[in-house]
Amino acid sequence: MSIERGRVAAFCGGLWAILRQRCPRCRRGRVFRGSFAMNDPCPVCALRFERDPGYFLGAMYASYFLASGIMAPLLYLIWWLWPALDSVDVVLVTGLAFLPFVPLVFRYSRVIWIHLDRWAWPGELSPAAPDTDPDSERRT
Ligand SMILES: [Zn+2]
Repeated sequence: MSIERGRVAAFCGGLWAILRQRCPRCRRGRVFRGSFAMNDPCPVCALRFERDPGYFLGAMYASYFLASGIMAPLLYLIWWLWPALDSVDVVLVTGLAFLPFVPLVFRYSRVIWIHLDRWAWPGELSPAAPDTDPDSERRT
C-alpha cells in the first residue's frame, strides 16, 4: 500500500514539476530562463537537459498534441462566432489566434519531452561531456 502511495506521490510531483516547468531530477531548477532561452544544464542539480544534438526533435510530438488541443477548440469557436466566414478564412484566423500560444506550446512541449525522456531512460545515455571525453586528445 505504501509503495502505491509513493508512486502516486511521485507521479503527482512529476506533473507539478511539468506545470511549473522545473527540472525532472531535482524538480526545483527552472528549465527556461526566458521565453525561449533554456537553462542547460539545470541551475540547481546540473542535469543536462539536451542529451544529444537534435534531442528536442522529440518535443515535436508533444508540440503537436498541445497545439492540436488548442487549435481545434479555437477553430470551432471561430467557426461558431463567424458562420459566414469561408473555411479557408476560418483556418487563417485560427492560425492568427494561435500565435499568442506559440511560446507556451514551445516551452511545455520541451518540458514534457524532457520529463518523458528522463522517466523512460533515467540514466545518462549521451557520450561523455567534451571536457571528460578520453578520446578528445587523440582527435586533436
Ligand atoms: Zn535539476
